[in-house]
Amino acid sequence: MSKNFKIAVLPGDGIGPEVTEAALKVLRAVQKASKKVRLEFIQGEAGYNCIRKYGTNVPQKTLDMLKQTNACLKGPMTTPEEAGAPPSAAVTIRKAFNLYANIRPCKSLPRVPSIRSNIDLVVLRENTEGLYFGREFLLSPGKGVALRVVTQQASEKIANLAFELAMKRKKHVTCVHKRNVLRVTDGIFVDSVMKVAEKYPSVFVDEVHVDAMAMRLIKEPEKFDVIVTTNLFGDILSDEAAQLVGGLGFAAGANIGDSYGMFEPVHGSAPKYEGKNVVNPVATILSAKMMLEYLNLPEEAGLIEKAVATVLEEGKVRTYDMDGASATQEMADAIAAKILI
Ligand code: NAD
Repeated sequence: MSKNFKIAVLPGDGIGPEVTEAALKVLRAVQKASKKVRLEFIQGEAGYNCIRKYGTNVPQKTLDMLKQTNACLKGPMTTPEEAGAPPSAAVTIRKAFNLYANIRPCKSLPRVPSIRSNIDLVVLRENTEGLYFGREFLLSPGKGVALRVVTQQASEKIANLAFELAMKRKKHVTCVHKRNVLRVTDGIFVDSVMKVAEKYPSVFVDEVHVDAMAMRLIKEPEKFDVIVTTNLFGDILSDEAAQLVGGLGFAAGANIGDSYGMFEPVHGSAPKYEGKNVVNPVATILSAKMMLEYLNLPEEAGLIEKAVATVLEEGKVRTYDMDGASATQEMADAIAAKILI
């Protein structure tokens, strides 16, 4: 009996459509190889181009469409920076579906320049509150304020996921914060993580200040497993962690809630590369792999992981960020071909 899933596809803008098409090629290959899985792709509009058309970057009809699907594969989207511009499409979707966890794995890959060969960590970021939520006000000309809301409820929720994840991995959770300065908000966050830790005596738990963590990720990244932190700290640390293992072209991400998941690369729309067919699609392809894991299709996810590793190991098809000259779609074709062998 085949397993059927409806997948919303939001290609986005900039390099978004190119990397999303690459991931779709690979998913279609998985579907062909597995035969047990049927993925119906439903394309929707979101991103920069929607702002002029609809006054928002995620129109209501797209939100309604997402509600009819099991998961969303999202390409990167440009977010205007002027005051008053709508929040990013990612933030809007995270909010609409309460996607409270942002999971960003970071692993050394074969023949990809990596600061160490044995890095295998995950940055797990609270996704619904904190400074990244973007609640800001202008008090008077030249004087602005940003709200950093942290609740015990949301902190315990992400902490639970951190420990569950650690139980399946190396049984180590590192709580990253800046409690020595942000005593109230990070006080709540750390206390919540430590409370949840009591339920997991077999998991080793430690704490690191965010500034020290930025340093230790360079000095000894192989010593970490699950790094759990608040929204903005996680955003910054996950880009740093991505660079340790080859850069943003390899960094996949999942946004998970209790009943929906959105999967997207960590990188943005890189407008200077738009339409050039040169960027690395692996981050989006590995995001699609995470989507299959979320849909409880571990074998199919494994096909993608193995195909990516084989193509990288062979080293024949390499995009510019690996000092190669292969096109985005050549890389996708090579990965899809390995799945179909
Ligand atoms: P960016 O991630 O788009 O690009 C930074 C640089 O990283 C690029 O110039 C390129 O050198 C490299 N890079 C990114 N993706 C790559 C890939 N797949 N392969 C190889 N190299 C790659 O970051 P930015 O320039 O800060 O942001 C551009 C736009 O993207 C902004 O509007 C920003 O708001 C948006 N953005 C969107 C998302 C999202 O949709 N989730 C995430 C981050 C940034």
